[in-house]
Amino acid sequence: QAKRNGRSMATIFSREMEEDARRVARVEQALRRAISAGEVEPHFQPIVNLSSRRTIGFECLARWNDRDLGVVPPSVFIPIAEDRGIIGPLSQLLLRKASEAARQWPDHLFLSFNLSPSQLVDQNTGQQILAILDRTGFDARRLEVEITETGVMTHPASARKIIEDLRRVGIRVSLDDFGTGQSSLGRLREIQFDKLKIDRAFVSEILRDRPSEHIVKAILAMCEGLGMEVVAEGIEEEAQADRLVDFGCGGGQGYFFGKPATALATLGYLRDADHRALLRA
Ligand code: C2E
Ligand code: MG
Ligand code: MG
Ligand code: MG
Repeated sequence: QAKRNGRSMATIFSREMEEDARRVARVEQALRRAISAGEVEPHFQPIVNLSSRRTIGFECLARWNDRDLGVVPPSVFIPIAEDRGIIGPLSQLLLRKASEAARQWPDHLFLSFNLSPSQLVDQNTGQQILAILDRTGFDARRLEVEITETGVMTHPASARKIIEDLRRVGIRVSLDDFGTGQSSLGRLREIQFDKLKIDRAFVSEILRDRPSEHIVKAILAMCEGLGMEVVAEGIEEEAQADRLVDFGCGGGQGYFFGKPATALATLGYLRDADHRALLRA
C-alpha cells in the first residue's frame, strides 16, 4: 500500500515538475525576446525623508508586460533570469533605461537599482555599470545599488570586492530586505554598507506587534552606531510613518508615499511635488 502511494505520489510529482519546467522554458524564451526588443521597463517608486516627507530618490523596479504572456511579475521573471544566465543583459537594459530617465530628474535625487546575487559573483559587474553610466551621462554619485543578504552570503569574498569597487567610484551600496534572509550580523563587520533597508515584514507589524517594534528599534540603534542610513520599506499607512519618525528612522518607502510608476508618470509626480513645495514656500 505504502509503495503504491509512494509510486503514485512520485508520478504526480514528476508530472508537476514537467509542467513547471515547461512553464519556466516558456517564460525564459519570451524574456529573451523581450530583452532583445528592449521591452522590459523600469518603473520608479519614491523614497522619502520621513520627517519632511520630501522625495530624496527613487527605486527602479522592473516591469514586463509581454505581448503573449501578459504581465509577468518580477518575483517570477527575475529568478528565472538569474537561473538561466540572462540577468546580466536584463539588468543592463534596465540600468540604461533607468539612468536615461533619472538624468531628467533634479540633481539632488538618487536612483536606487537592484542587483541580483549572481551579479555579485561576476567581477565584470562594476565595469558594466560604469560603462552604462558613462554612455547615459548619469553621475555615479547619484546611483545606489541594492543588494540582498543572500547576495552577500553566497559568495562573500567576491561580493565584498565588487562592493568596494563600486564604493570607490562613489556609488552607494545598500543592504536590501534586511532581517528576513539568512541574516548574519557578522557581514556588517566585514562589508561597509552606506544604507540598510528594513524589510516590509517588520514595518507592516510595527503598530501591532511588540517584537517587531523592538527589532526595528534595535536595527535603528545599530545603524546609528555603524554610521549607516536607514530606509523602512513597505509603509502603507501614515501611522506607520509617524511611528518610524518617533523611533528616529530617516528614510521611508511604500504605497503610502507612492507606488512604482512609469518614467513619464514619475516626471509628472516630480512636477507636482515642485508645485506643492512652491505653494508651501
Ligand atoms: P525589493 O527590491 O525589496 O522591492 C520592493 C518590493 O516591494 C517591490 O515589489 C515593490 O513594488 C514592493 N512594495 C513597495 N512598497 C510596498 C508597500 O507599501 N506594500 C507592499 N505590499 N509592497 C510594496 P516588486 O516590484 O514586485 O519587486 C519584487 C522584487 O523583485 C524586488 O524586491 C527585487 O528583489 C526584485 N526586483 C525588481 N526589479 C528588479 C531588478 O531590476 N533587478 C533585480 N535584480 N531585482 C529586481
Ligand atoms: Mg530593492
Ligand atoms: Mg526591498
Ligand atoms: Mg523585498
